Amino acid sequence: MAALELPKALKVLLLCRDGEPRSASRWAQGGLAAAVRSDDSPSLHRADTLRASAGLGEPAAVDLLVREAPGCVERLLKLGLQLDRDGSQLSTTLEAAHSRRRVLHAQDQTGLALVELLEQRLKAQANVCSLQGGLATQLWLKAGKCCGLQLIYGGQLGWLQAGAVVLATGGGGHLFANTTNPASARGDGVAMAWEAGAVLRDLEFVQFHPTALMHPGAPHFLLSEALRGEGAQLLKSDGKPLGASEMLPRDQLSRAMVREMQRSAEQRLWLDLKPVGETKLQQQFPMILKRCIKLGLAPLQQPLPVAPAAHYWMGGVATNLAAACSIAGLYAVGEVASSGIHGANRLASNSLSECLVMAHQLRMLNPLSNPVGSNFNKKVSSLNWNCEQTLMLKAQQASEKLRRLCWQVAGVERWGSSLEEAIKIATTIQQELNLSKVLKPILEQPQGELHNVSKAQLTQFEVLWDQRQRNLVSLLLLKAAAFREESRGGHFRRDAPAALPYWCRHSLQRIGEKLSTAAVGEAIN
Ligand SMILES: Cc1cc2nc3c(=O)[nH]c(=O)nc-3n(C[C@H](O)[C@H](O)[C@H](O)COP(=O)(O)OP(=O)(O)OC[C@H]3O[C@@H](n4cnc5c(N)ncnc54)[C@H](O)[C@@H]3O)c2cc1C
Repeated sequence: MAALELPKALKVLLLCRDGEPRSASRWAQGGLAAAVRSDDSPSLHRADTLRASAGLGEPAAVDLLVREAPGCVERLLKLGLQLDRDGSQLSTTLEAAHSRRRVLHAQDQTGLALVELLEQRLKAQANVCSLQGGLATQLWLKAGKCCGLQLIYGGQLGWLQAGAVVLATGGGGHLFANTTNPASARGDGVAMAWEAGAVLRDLEFVQFHPTALMHPGAPHFLLSEALRGEGAQLLKSDGKPLGASEMLPRDQLSRAMVREMQRSAEQRLWLDLKPVGETKLQQQFPMILKRCIKLGLAPLQQPLPVAPAAHYWMGGVATNLAAACSIAGLYAVGEVASSGIHGANRLASNSLSECLVMAHQLRMLNPLSNPVGSNFNKKVSSLNWNCEQTLMLKAQQASEKLRRLCWQVAGVERWGSSLEEAIKIATTIQQELNLSKVLKPILEQPQGELHNVSKAQLTQFEVLWDQRQRNLVSLLLLKAAAFREESRGGHFRRDAPAALPYWCRHSLQRIGEKLSTAAVGEAIN
């Protein structure tokens, strides 16, 4: 959406690391929140969003979201988005912590419908060019301003100049072993912004979705909250109801589930879809049914095994209402950003709406200059870089170990001592692999230079870079979680289970500085 919204006078290059279509946006099921019904209003949507944010929602950002979301939906409908309807009205569903049915949907594939439409529209947009399979690695800074980035594309490693860079790299759910997110959600944008010196905000706040499928050998596929909104019921392993309201905010329900799982020493609970009714299930959730049946499950007859999983990252690169970061020329939109809309906890289905509303803010973007250009495709020398096979194997194993560690210590329930221990372990992994040294020819490639990268180098690079990014971003997240000695929103500390008035502040991280805090409403520079 960001690429469509940028001023048409600009030349836009859309970079995407995945060759195949895969992103959290594509996977979004439930829908997008906007107050469009006559019994709803932006002020009710505002109140629900701020209540969910547990004191850390930025009122100005929330105002922008609730005011602009209906207009964004209107524009999407004009572009041709097919949302479900009830007669002449748009059909709406209910998700946790919403006081009204305000979640608009296209069956259980809202994200797919949205992304496919936007992709189509982009093809007709003469000022936008797409590079599939281009991995952005570092930002290019000149005199403290962002003027481009380093990337690997088409067997070359080099630099692209730009009047502005917009990060839209998604979240970091895949830093955790149990997650609903795709593997690309490893926080690349956060890593790049951090290394460039941008301010990061509230990285400790992660939302854990209560109902991810927990079936042996299957991915932790999301079972949309809208199922519970339509009547699906959580059951304990003895078949009795969990006893917590299905529509509790996600953090509270996830904790109630984890406690029950600890009590019963089970790895999962059960979600009974039967109360929704077969007709509604077939009409509104066909993709969920299809995927479950493909896995050999019988969703219409038997409850499905579920457990909480990392789902959405509230924290990210701090931005203002223009989606601008603390570095001139750098912008961030979507899950990579901390726009202030979600605070400590996201109201369900506010994230797609946030993507649309904040992308719309980019229509006012004023680039530092518009020197889109590159030295790609010039004659170049080969990259002088090789690493041993054993290091690659170690890096792969270390990545999986780190994901399990993040889940254990920074998952639904956290303890200060375990977080400190994990910080030590992640630091040791980093030192053992000494990736910064191994990757030096890439990390220290002079700005403006270009190198050929062989297939073998690329394979090695991808494994080591993956480990490096994950380690860096996990450490930042763990440090933020250790720093906040209270519980609030998506961050729950067993050793500090109450929300403390002193902590009703954002946490801030910037390279070379100690972690600090900022009051709600305080500008980030
Ligand atoms: C299963 C699931 C269901 C969800 N359901 C809903 C819902 O119903 N409603 C809702 O509001 N929200 C939902 N969410 C959350 C919402 O989908 C995401 O917050 C939102 O789509 C994020 O959009 P994004 O553009 O920031 O990131 P993404 O859609 O993840 O896109 C990020 C893109 O950046 C690319 N990228 C990453 N790093 C690099 C790099 N270094 N170089 C180049 N490219 C890179 C990735 O390959 C990807 O294509 C859901 C999330 C999941 C995982």
